[in-house]
Amino acid sequence: MIANRGEIAVRVIRTCRKMGIRTVAVYSEADRTSMHVRMADQAFLLGPGPSSESYLLADKLIDICKREEVDAIHPGYGFLSENPAFARKLQESGIILIGPSADAMEVMGSKLASKKAVADFDVPLVPGTEHAVEDPEEAKKIAREIGMPVLIKASAGGGGKGMRIVEKEEDLNRQMKMAISEAISSFGDGSVFIEKYIGGPKHIEIQVLGDEHGNYIYAFERECSVQRRHQKLVEEAPSAVVDEELRNKIGNAAINVARSCNYTGAGTVEFLLDENRNFYFLEMNTRLQVEHPISEMITGLDLVEWQIRVARGEKLSFTQDDLQINGHAIELRLCAEDPTNDFLPDIGTLERYRPPSADHIRIDGFVEEGSTIPIFYDNMFAKLCVWGKDRTEAIERMKDAIRRFEIEGIATTLDFGYFVMEHPSFIDGSFDTHFVQNHFSPEKLQENSMDDDRAAALLSAWFLKNHDPIVTPSSKRGSDWYEKR
Ligand code: ADP
Repeated sequence: MIANRGEIAVRVIRTCRKMGIRTVAVYSEADRTSMHVRMADQAFLLGPGPSSESYLLADKLIDICKREEVDAIHPGYGFLSENPAFARKLQESGIILIGPSADAMEVMGSKLASKKAVADFDVPLVPGTEHAVEDPEEAKKIAREIGMPVLIKASAGGGGKGMRIVEKEEDLNRQMKMAISEAISSFGDGSVFIEKYIGGPKHIEIQVLGDEHGNYIYAFERECSVQRRHQKLVEEAPSAVVDEELRNKIGNAAINVARSCNYTGAGTVEFLLDENRNFYFLEMNTRLQVEHPISEMITGLDLVEWQIRVARGEKLSFTQDDLQINGHAIELRLCAEDPTNDFLPDIGTLERYRPPSADHIRIDGFVEEGSTIPIFYDNMFAKLCVWGKDRTEAIERMKDAIRRFEIEGIATTLDFGYFVMEHPSFIDGSFDTHFVQNHFSPEKLQENSMDDDRAAALLSAWFLKNHDPIVTPSSKRGSDWYEKR
Protein backbone atom coordinates (compact mmCIF):
# COMPACT_ATOMS: atom_id res chain seq x y z
CA MET A 1 0.00 0.00 0.00
CA ILE A 2 1.15 3.48 -0.77
CA ALA A 3 -0.23 5.56 2.10
CA ASN A 4 0.17 8.79 0.18
CA ARG A 5 -0.93 10.75 -2.88
CA GLY A 6 0.43 12.96 -5.66
CA GLU A 7 3.76 12.57 -7.37
CA ILE A 8 5.33 10.41 -4.67
CA ALA A 9 2.53 7.81 -4.82
CA VAL A 10 3.01 7.64 -8.61
CA ARG A 11 6.79 7.40 -8.14
CA VAL A 12 6.53 4.48 -5.71
CA ILE A 13 4.00 2.61 -7.88
CA ARG A 14 6.43 2.81 -10.82
CA THR A 15 9.15 0.96 -8.93
CA CYS A 16 6.64 -1.58 -7.53
CA ARG A 17 5.54 -2.35 -11.10
CA LYS A 18 9.16 -2.81 -12.14
CA MET A 19 9.66 -5.23 -9.23
CA GLY A 20 6.42 -7.15 -9.94
CA ILE A 21 4.77 -6.00 -6.70
CA ARG A 22 0.99 -5.48 -6.67
CA THR A 23 -0.07 -2.06 -5.38
CA VAL A 24 -2.94 -0.68 -3.35
CA ALA A 25 -3.66 3.06 -3.56
CA VAL A 26 -5.70 5.08 -1.10
CA TYR A 27 -7.32 8.40 -1.88
CA SER A 28 -9.49 11.22 -0.61
CA GLU A 29 -12.61 12.53 -2.32
CA ALA A 30 -10.50 15.39 -3.73
CA ASP A 31 -8.18 12.86 -5.42
CA ARG A 32 -10.80 10.53 -6.93
CA THR A 33 -9.50 10.92 -10.47
CA SER A 34 -5.84 11.31 -9.54
CA MET A 35 -3.10 9.48 -11.45
CA HIS A 36 -2.00 7.26 -8.53
CA VAL A 37 -5.56 5.93 -8.18
CA ARG A 38 -5.62 4.90 -11.83
CA MET A 39 -2.13 3.40 -11.79
CA ALA A 40 -2.49 1.11 -8.75
CA ASP A 41 -3.91 -2.41 -9.00
CA GLN A 42 -6.52 -1.57 -6.36
CA ALA A 43 -7.69 1.70 -4.83
CA PHE A 44 -9.73 2.54 -1.73
CA LEU A 45 -11.47 5.75 -0.71
CA LEU A 46 -10.43 7.06 2.72
CA GLY A 47 -12.75 10.05 3.19
CA PRO A 48 -13.16 13.78 2.45
CA GLY A 49 -10.39 16.07 1.23
CA PRO A 50 -8.80 17.33 4.46
CA SER A 51 -5.90 15.03 5.34
CA SER A 52 -7.14 14.66 8.94
CA GLU A 53 -10.21 12.96 7.46
CA SER A 54 -8.33 10.89 4.88
CA TYR A 55 -4.56 10.37 4.53
CA LEU A 56 -3.90 10.67 8.28
CA LEU A 57 -6.44 8.00 9.34
CA ALA A 58 -3.96 5.41 10.60
CA ASP A 59 -6.57 2.90 11.81
CA LYS A 60 -8.50 3.01 8.56
CA LEU A 61 -5.31 2.37 6.59
CA ILE A 62 -4.48 -0.59 8.81
CA ASP A 63 -8.02 -2.01 8.44
CA ILE A 64 -7.70 -1.89 4.65
CA CYS A 65 -4.28 -3.57 4.86
CA LYS A 66 -5.68 -6.41 6.95
CA ARG A 67 -8.73 -6.89 4.76
CA GLU A 68 -6.74 -6.83 1.52
CA GLU A 69 -3.80 -8.81 2.93
CA VAL A 70 -1.29 -6.03 2.30
CA ASP A 71 2.29 -7.03 3.24
CA ALA A 72 3.89 -3.61 3.53
CA ILE A 73 3.17 0.13 3.54
CA HIS A 74 5.24 2.76 1.77
CA PRO A 75 4.43 6.02 3.53
CA GLY A 76 6.07 8.41 1.00
CA TYR A 77 6.92 11.76 2.63
CA GLY A 78 4.70 13.98 4.79
CA PHE A 79 1.44 12.60 6.25
CA LEU A 80 2.28 9.55 8.46
CA SER A 81 5.78 8.96 7.10
CA GLU A 82 7.63 10.15 10.22
CA ASN A 83 5.07 9.20 12.83
CA PRO A 84 6.48 6.71 15.38
CA ALA A 85 2.99 5.91 16.79
CA PHE A 86 1.90 4.80 13.31
CA ALA A 87 5.09 2.76 12.90
CA ARG A 88 4.38 1.00 16.22
CA LYS A 89 0.77 0.27 15.26
CA LEU A 90 1.96 -1.31 12.02
CA GLN A 91 4.44 -3.44 13.90
CA GLU A 92 1.70 -4.66 16.26
CA SER A 93 -0.48 -5.50 13.24
CA GLY A 94 2.29 -7.45 11.52
CA ILE A 95 2.48 -5.04 8.58
CA ILE A 96 5.95 -4.05 7.36
CA LEU A 97 6.70 -0.33 7.28
CA ILE A 98 9.01 0.54 4.40
CA GLY A 99 11.15 2.83 6.52
CA PRO A 100 13.20 2.84 9.72
CA SER A 101 12.13 1.56 13.14
CA ALA A 102 9.71 3.55 15.29
CA ASP A 103 12.57 4.20 17.74
CA ALA A 104 14.82 5.70 15.06
CA MET A 105 11.94 7.91 13.89
CA GLU A 106 11.25 9.04 17.43
CA VAL A 107 14.85 10.00 18.19
CA MET A 108 15.42 11.81 14.90
CA GLY A 109 11.97 13.44 14.96
CA SER A 110 13.07 15.53 17.90
CA LYS A 111 15.86 17.99 17.16
CA LEU A 112 17.04 17.85 20.78
CA ALA A 113 16.92 14.05 21.10
CA SER A 114 18.84 13.71 17.83
CA LYS A 115 21.61 16.02 19.07
CA LYS A 116 21.87 13.86 22.17
CA ALA A 117 21.90 10.63 20.16
CA VAL A 118 24.82 11.69 17.97
CA ALA A 119 26.89 13.10 20.87
CA ASP A 120 29.29 10.14 20.97
CA PHE A 121 29.48 9.64 17.22
CA ASP A 122 31.88 12.36 16.15
CA VAL A 123 29.27 14.53 14.43
CA PRO A 124 29.82 18.34 14.48
CA LEU A 125 26.85 20.28 15.88
CA VAL A 126 25.89 23.95 15.49
CA PRO A 127 27.14 25.69 18.67
CA GLY A 128 24.26 26.06 21.12
CA THR A 129 22.27 24.20 23.73
CA GLU A 130 21.57 20.52 23.63
CA HIS A 131 18.69 20.76 26.08
CA ALA A 132 15.40 22.68 26.24
CA VAL A 133 15.68 26.22 27.60
CA GLU A 134 12.92 28.09 29.43
CA ASP A 135 14.70 30.42 31.80
CA PRO A 136 15.37 33.84 30.19
CA GLU A 137 18.51 34.32 32.29
CA GLU A 138 19.97 31.03 31.05
CA ALA A 139 19.03 31.99 27.49
CA LYS A 140 20.90 35.27 27.89
CA LYS A 141 23.97 33.50 29.24
CA ILE A 142 24.01 31.05 26.33
CA ALA A 143 23.50 33.81 23.77
CA ARG A 144 26.47 35.70 25.23
CA GLU A 145 28.63 32.61 25.00
CA ILE A 146 27.83 31.81 21.37
CA GLY A 147 27.37 35.42 20.21
CA MET A 148 24.47 37.20 18.55
CA PRO A 149 22.51 36.65 16.38
CA VAL A 150 21.00 33.40 17.63
CA LEU A 151 18.22 31.17 16.43
CA ILE A 152 15.49 29.93 18.76
CA LYS A 153 14.25 26.60 17.47
CA ALA A 154 11.33 24.37 18.41
CA SER A 155 12.61 20.88 19.12
CA ALA A 156 9.55 19.37 17.42
CA GLY A 157 9.63 21.88 14.53
CA GLY A 158 9.74 20.90 10.88
CA GLY A 159 9.00 22.08 7.35
CA GLY A 160 10.81 25.34 7.99
CA LYS A 161 8.44 26.26 10.82
CA GLY A 162 9.23 27.03 14.46
CA MET A 163 12.38 29.15 14.06
CA ARG A 164 13.05 32.70 15.23
CA ILE A 165 16.14 34.76 14.57
CA VAL A 166 17.09 37.08 17.43
CA GLU A 167 19.48 39.89 16.54
CA LYS A 168 19.61 41.81 19.84
CA GLU A 169 19.97 40.54 23.38
CA GLU A 170 17.11 42.73 24.66
CA ASP A 171 14.70 40.91 22.32
CA LEU A 172 15.64 37.48 23.60
CA ASN A 173 13.13 37.26 26.47
CA ARG A 174 10.12 38.31 24.40
CA GLN A 175 11.08 36.07 21.47
CA MET A 176 11.59 33.07 23.78
CA LYS A 177 8.08 33.47 25.20
CA MET A 178 6.58 33.74 21.74
CA ALA A 179 8.59 30.77 20.45
CA ILE A 180 7.45 28.58 23.35
CA SER A 181 3.76 29.38 22.98
CA GLU A 182 4.01 28.95 19.20
CA ALA A 183 5.73 25.57 19.63
CA ILE A 184 2.95 24.41 21.98
CA SER A 185 0.18 25.44 19.61
CA SER A 186 1.86 24.19 16.40
CA PHE A 187 3.64 21.03 17.53
CA GLY A 188 2.09 20.19 20.93
CA ASP A 189 5.55 20.39 22.50
CA GLY A 190 6.89 23.63 23.94
CA SER A 191 10.57 22.64 24.10
CA VAL A 192 12.77 25.23 22.42
CA PHE A 193 16.54 25.56 22.31
CA ILE A 194 19.13 28.06 21.15
CA GLU A 195 21.57 27.71 18.30
CA LYS A 196 24.16 30.00 16.79
CA TYR A 197 22.70 31.65 13.72
CA ILE A 198 25.07 30.77 10.88
CA GLY A 199 25.21 33.72 8.47
CA GLY A 200 25.02 32.80 4.79
CA PRO A 201 25.25 29.01 5.09
CA LYS A 202 24.76 26.40 2.42
CA HIS A 203 22.28 23.61 2.99
CA ILE A 204 24.06 20.37 2.15
CA GLU A 205 22.41 17.02 2.79
CA ILE A 206 23.58 13.46 2.44
CA GLN A 207 21.50 10.56 1.16
CA VAL A 208 22.17 7.48 3.27
CA LEU A 209 21.04 3.90 2.97
CA GLY A 210 21.34 1.22 5.65
CA ASP A 211 20.26 -2.40 5.90
CA GLU A 212 19.28 -4.57 8.87
CA HIS A 213 22.72 -6.19 8.87
CA GLY A 214 24.66 -3.09 9.91
CA ASN A 215 25.82 -2.01 6.42
CA TYR A 216 25.66 1.64 5.45
CA ILE A 217 26.51 3.68 2.39
CA TYR A 218 26.12 7.35 1.48
CA ALA A 219 24.89 8.24 -1.99
CA PHE A 220 26.72 11.60 -1.93
CA GLU A 221 25.37 15.08 -1.31
CA ARG A 222 22.58 17.30 -2.54
CA GLU A 223 22.88 21.07 -2.35
CA CYS A 224 19.51 22.60 -1.41
CA SER A 225 20.31 26.23 -0.63
CA VAL A 226 17.78 27.85 -2.98
CA GLN A 227 14.89 28.14 -0.53
CA ARG A 228 11.93 30.36 0.29
CA ARG A 229 10.50 30.33 3.83
CA HIS A 230 13.26 27.81 4.76
CA GLN A 231 11.80 25.40 2.18
CA LYS A 232 13.66 24.16 -0.87
CA LEU A 233 12.89 25.10 -4.48
CA VAL A 234 15.98 24.06 -6.46
CA GLU A 235 18.32 21.19 -5.61
CA GLU A 236 21.40 19.83 -7.29
CA ALA A 237 23.74 16.87 -6.95
CA PRO A 238 26.64 17.00 -6.45
CA SER A 239 27.23 20.43 -4.87
CA ALA A 240 29.37 22.90 -6.83
CA VAL A 241 31.58 23.57 -3.80
CA VAL A 242 32.08 20.17 -2.18
CA ASP A 243 35.34 18.46 -3.12
CA GLU A 244 36.31 14.82 -2.65
CA GLU A 245 37.84 15.35 0.79
CA LEU A 246 34.90 17.31 2.21
CA ARG A 247 32.43 14.85 0.62
CA ASN A 248 34.14 12.03 2.39
CA LYS A 249 34.05 13.81 5.74
CA ILE A 250 30.39 14.85 5.53
CA GLY A 251 29.43 11.43 4.13
CA ASN A 252 31.05 9.63 7.04
CA ALA A 253 29.47 12.02 9.56
CA ALA A 254 26.08 11.23 7.96
CA ILE A 255 26.69 7.51 8.30
CA ASN A 256 27.57 8.07 11.96
CA VAL A 257 24.23 9.84 12.45
CA ALA A 258 22.49 6.82 10.89
CA ARG A 259 24.47 4.44 13.08
CA SER A 260 23.58 6.40 16.22
CA CYS A 261 19.93 5.31 15.83
CA ASN A 262 20.48 1.94 14.06
CA TYR A 263 18.86 3.42 10.99
CA THR A 264 17.53 1.15 8.27
CA GLY A 265 16.37 2.08 4.77
CA ALA A 266 16.79 5.41 2.98
CA GLY A 267 17.28 8.56 5.03
CA THR A 268 18.67 12.05 4.67
CA VAL A 269 21.09 13.76 7.01
CA GLU A 270 21.02 17.55 6.71
CA PHE A 271 23.99 19.83 7.39
CA LEU A 272 24.80 23.52 7.20
CA LEU A 273 28.10 24.45 5.58
CA ASP A 274 29.56 27.83 6.57
CA GLU A 275 31.88 30.14 4.61
CA ASN A 276 34.93 28.49 6.18
CA ARG A 277 33.78 25.06 5.02
CA ASN A 278 32.85 23.96 8.55
CA PHE A 279 29.81 21.72 8.50
CA TYR A 280 27.23 21.19 11.23
CA PHE A 281 24.56 18.55 11.69
CA LEU A 282 21.04 20.00 11.46
CA GLU A 283 18.67 17.04 11.52
CA MET A 284 17.87 13.69 9.96
CA ASN A 285 14.77 13.09 7.84
CA THR A 286 13.68 9.52 8.36
CA ARG A 287 11.96 8.96 5.02
CA LEU A 288 12.37 9.31 1.29
CA GLN A 289 13.07 12.94 0.46
CA VAL A 290 11.31 15.01 -2.23
CA GLU A 291 14.63 15.64 -3.99
CA HIS A 292 15.77 12.00 -4.08
CA PRO A 293 15.60 11.77 -7.92
CA ILE A 294 18.77 13.82 -8.41
CA SER A 295 20.75 11.34 -6.29
CA GLU A 296 19.28 8.52 -8.37
CA MET A 297 20.30 10.28 -11.57
CA ILE A 298 23.96 10.62 -10.57
CA THR A 299 24.35 7.18 -8.97
CA GLY A 300 22.03 4.96 -11.04
CA LEU A 301 20.42 3.65 -7.83
CA ASP A 302 16.66 3.25 -7.54
CA LEU A 303 16.22 4.38 -3.94
CA VAL A 304 12.62 3.16 -3.70
CA GLU A 305 13.73 -0.28 -4.86
CA TRP A 306 16.38 -0.30 -2.13
CA GLN A 307 13.89 0.86 0.47
CA ILE A 308 11.72 -2.14 -0.43
CA ARG A 309 14.62 -4.59 -0.56
CA VAL A 310 15.95 -3.47 2.81
CA ALA A 311 12.43 -3.72 4.31
CA ARG A 312 12.36 -7.33 3.08
CA GLY A 313 15.55 -7.96 5.07
CA GLU A 314 17.94 -8.02 2.10
CA LYS A 315 21.57 -6.96 2.42
CA LEU A 316 22.90 -4.01 0.42
CA SER A 317 24.54 -5.69 -2.58
CA PHE A 318 27.19 -2.98 -3.00
CA THR A 319 29.65 -1.06 -0.84
CA GLN A 320 30.72 2.57 -0.70
CA ASP A 321 33.60 1.84 -3.09
CA ASP A 322 31.16 0.63 -5.75
CA LEU A 323 29.40 3.99 -5.87
CA GLN A 324 30.49 6.76 -8.19
CA ILE A 325 29.16 10.14 -9.16
CA ASN A 326 28.17 10.14 -12.79
CA GLY A 327 27.54 13.66 -14.14
CA HIS A 328 25.36 16.30 -12.55
CA ALA A 329 21.62 16.56 -11.87
CA ILE A 330 19.36 19.49 -11.00
CA GLU A 331 15.77 19.47 -9.74
CA LEU A 332 13.28 22.32 -9.89
CA ARG A 333 10.18 21.95 -7.76
CA LEU A 334 7.12 23.03 -9.73
CA CYS A 335 4.73 24.50 -7.23
CA ALA A 336 1.38 26.18 -7.83
CA GLU A 337 2.44 29.53 -6.42
CA ASP A 338 3.30 33.00 -7.57
CA PRO A 339 6.95 34.04 -7.19
CA THR A 340 5.97 37.63 -8.09
CA ASN A 341 3.52 37.68 -5.18
CA ASP A 342 5.71 36.50 -2.30
CA PHE A 343 5.44 32.86 -3.46
CA LEU A 344 1.82 32.71 -2.30
CA PRO A 345 -0.16 29.61 -3.38
CA ASP A 346 -2.09 29.99 -6.62
CA ILE A 347 -4.40 27.04 -7.02
CA GLY A 348 -6.57 26.46 -10.06
CA THR A 349 -6.79 24.44 -13.25
CA LEU A 350 -3.92 23.58 -15.56
CA GLU A 351 -5.43 24.80 -18.83
CA ARG A 352 -2.30 23.81 -20.66
CA TYR A 353 0.29 21.30 -19.47
CA ARG A 354 2.90 20.09 -21.97
CA PRO A 355 6.09 18.80 -20.34
CA PRO A 356 9.23 18.51 -22.46
CA SER A 357 10.66 15.07 -23.11
CA ALA A 358 14.23 13.87 -23.64
CA ASP A 359 16.53 11.12 -22.36
CA HIS A 360 18.17 13.52 -19.93
CA ILE A 361 14.86 14.83 -18.52
CA ARG A 362 12.94 13.16 -15.73
CA ILE A 363 9.62 14.55 -14.60
CA ASP A 364 8.05 13.15 -11.46
CA GLY A 365 4.51 14.45 -11.44
CA PHE A 366 0.87 13.46 -11.27
CA VAL A 367 -1.01 16.15 -13.16
CA GLU A 368 -2.24 16.38 -16.73
CA GLU A 369 -3.76 19.07 -18.90
CA GLY A 370 -7.12 19.92 -17.30
CA SER A 371 -6.08 18.79 -13.80
CA THR A 372 -7.05 20.96 -10.86
CA ILE A 373 -4.63 21.38 -7.98
CA PRO A 374 -6.60 20.60 -4.80
CA ILE A 375 -6.42 23.18 -2.02
CA PHE A 376 -6.03 20.60 0.76
CA TYR A 377 -2.44 19.53 0.18
CA ASP A 378 1.05 20.69 -0.63
CA ASN A 379 1.07 22.80 -3.78
CA MET A 380 3.96 20.99 -5.50
CA PHE A 381 2.56 19.29 -8.60
CA ALA A 382 5.71 18.08 -10.37
CA LYS A 383 9.49 17.95 -10.16
CA LEU A 384 11.49 18.80 -13.24
CA CYS A 385 14.87 17.03 -13.13
CA VAL A 386 17.64 17.12 -15.72
CA TRP A 387 20.93 15.32 -16.05
CA GLY A 388 24.10 16.56 -17.76
CA LYS A 389 27.65 15.19 -18.03
CA ASP A 390 28.78 18.18 -15.96
CA ARG A 391 27.22 21.11 -14.11
CA THR A 392 27.38 23.50 -17.07
CA GLU A 393 25.54 21.06 -19.31
CA ALA A 394 22.95 20.35 -16.59
CA ILE A 395 22.25 24.10 -16.21
CA GLU A 396 21.89 24.54 -19.98
CA ARG A 397 19.61 21.52 -20.20
CA MET A 398 17.47 22.82 -17.33
CA LYS A 399 17.10 26.16 -19.13
CA ASP A 400 16.12 24.37 -22.33
CA ALA A 401 13.62 22.14 -20.49
CA ILE A 402 12.04 25.18 -18.79
CA ARG A 403 11.76 26.99 -22.12
CA ARG A 404 9.99 24.00 -23.64
CA PHE A 405 7.68 23.33 -20.67
CA GLU A 406 4.25 24.78 -21.42
CA ILE A 407 2.05 25.55 -18.45
CA GLU A 408 -0.98 27.83 -18.47
CA GLY A 409 -3.81 28.47 -16.05
CA ILE A 410 -1.87 28.85 -12.81
CA ALA A 411 1.18 30.71 -11.58
CA THR A 412 4.17 28.41 -11.03
CA THR A 413 7.83 28.41 -10.05
CA LEU A 414 8.90 27.55 -13.63
CA ASP A 415 10.14 31.04 -14.60
CA PHE A 416 11.72 31.44 -11.19
CA GLY A 417 13.76 28.33 -12.01
CA TYR A 418 15.02 30.03 -15.18
CA PHE A 419 15.98 33.09 -13.18
CA VAL A 420 18.02 30.88 -10.84
CA MET A 421 19.79 29.07 -13.70
CA GLU A 422 20.86 32.40 -15.21
CA HIS A 423 21.98 34.05 -11.98
CA PRO A 424 25.76 34.61 -11.67
CA SER A 425 25.83 33.48 -8.04
CA PHE A 426 24.08 30.22 -8.94
CA ILE A 427 26.36 29.71 -11.93
CA ASP A 428 29.55 30.25 -9.91
CA GLY A 429 28.20 28.16 -7.00
CA SER A 430 28.66 30.86 -4.37
CA PHE A 431 24.92 31.14 -3.50
CA ASP A 432 23.68 30.38 0.00
CA THR A 433 20.34 29.94 1.79
CA HIS A 434 19.70 33.69 1.41
CA PHE A 435 19.71 33.49 -2.38
CA VAL A 436 16.03 34.45 -2.76
CA GLN A 437 16.24 37.22 -0.17
CA ASN A 438 19.48 38.67 -1.59
CA HIS A 439 18.99 38.31 -5.33
CA PHE A 440 15.35 37.89 -6.20
CA SER A 441 12.62 40.48 -6.64
CA PRO A 442 9.35 40.17 -8.60
CA GLU A 443 10.57 42.73 -11.17
CA LYS A 444 13.32 40.31 -12.19
CA LEU A 445 10.72 37.87 -13.56
CA GLN A 446 8.66 40.62 -15.12
CA GLU A 447 11.79 41.87 -16.94
CA ASN A 448 12.36 38.36 -18.29
CA SER A 449 8.81 37.96 -19.48
CA MET A 450 9.05 41.36 -21.22
CA ASP A 451 12.07 40.00 -23.06
CA ASP A 452 10.04 36.92 -23.97
CA ASP A 453 7.16 39.03 -25.27
CA ARG A 454 9.54 41.10 -27.37
CA ALA A 455 11.21 37.97 -28.75
CA ALA A 456 7.83 36.41 -29.56
CA ALA A 457 6.72 39.54 -31.42
CA LEU A 458 9.94 39.67 -33.47
CA LEU A 459 9.73 35.99 -34.30
CA SER A 460 6.10 36.26 -35.46
CA ALA A 461 7.02 39.18 -37.70
CA TRP A 462 9.88 37.19 -39.15
CA PHE A 463 7.64 34.15 -39.82
CA LEU A 464 5.03 36.31 -41.54
CA LYS A 465 7.64 37.92 -43.75
CA ASN A 466 9.29 34.67 -44.78
CA HIS A 467 6.10 32.53 -45.12
CA ASP A 468 7.84 29.66 -43.38
CA PRO A 469 5.77 26.56 -42.67
CA ILE A 470 4.73 26.36 -39.04
CA VAL A 471 6.55 23.58 -37.23
CA THR A 472 4.43 21.62 -34.76
CA PRO A 473 6.20 20.18 -31.74
CA SER A 474 6.31 16.43 -31.18
CA SER A 475 3.23 15.11 -29.37
CA LYS A 476 5.33 12.74 -27.28
CA ARG A 477 4.96 13.60 -23.62
CA GLY A 478 6.41 12.62 -20.30
CA SER A 479 9.82 11.34 -19.42
CA ASP A 480 11.34 8.12 -20.65
CA TRP A 481 13.99 8.22 -17.96
CA TYR A 482 12.81 4.97 -16.42
CA GLU A 483 12.77 3.00 -19.65
CA LYS A 484 16.13 4.31 -20.78
CA ARG A 485 18.10 3.65 -17.55
P1 ADP B 1 13.13 22.07 9.47
O1 ADP B 1 13.08 20.84 10.31
O2 ADP B 1 12.00 23.01 9.75
O3 ADP B 1 13.35 21.82 8.02
P2 ADP B 1 15.97 22.66 9.76
O4 ADP B 1 16.66 22.61 11.06
O5 ADP B 1 16.19 21.53 8.82
O6 ADP B 1 14.41 22.87 10.01
O7 ADP B 1 16.36 24.00 9.01
C1 ADP B 1 15.74 24.43 7.80
C2 ADP B 1 16.50 25.60 7.21
O8 ADP B 1 16.61 26.68 8.15
C3 ADP B 1 17.95 25.30 6.82
O9 ADP B 1 18.06 24.75 5.54
C4 ADP B 1 18.58 26.69 6.91
O10 ADP B 1 18.26 27.44 5.76
C5 ADP B 1 17.87 27.33 8.09
N1 ADP B 1 18.61 27.13 9.36
C6 ADP B 1 18.40 26.16 10.28
N2 ADP B 1 19.26 26.26 11.33
C7 ADP B 1 20.06 27.33 11.07
C8 ADP B 1 21.16 27.95 11.77
N3 ADP B 1 21.59 27.54 12.95
N4 ADP B 1 21.73 29.03 11.19
C9 ADP B 1 21.29 29.51 10.00
N5 ADP B 1 20.27 28.97 9.30
C10 ADP B 1 19.65 27.89 9.81
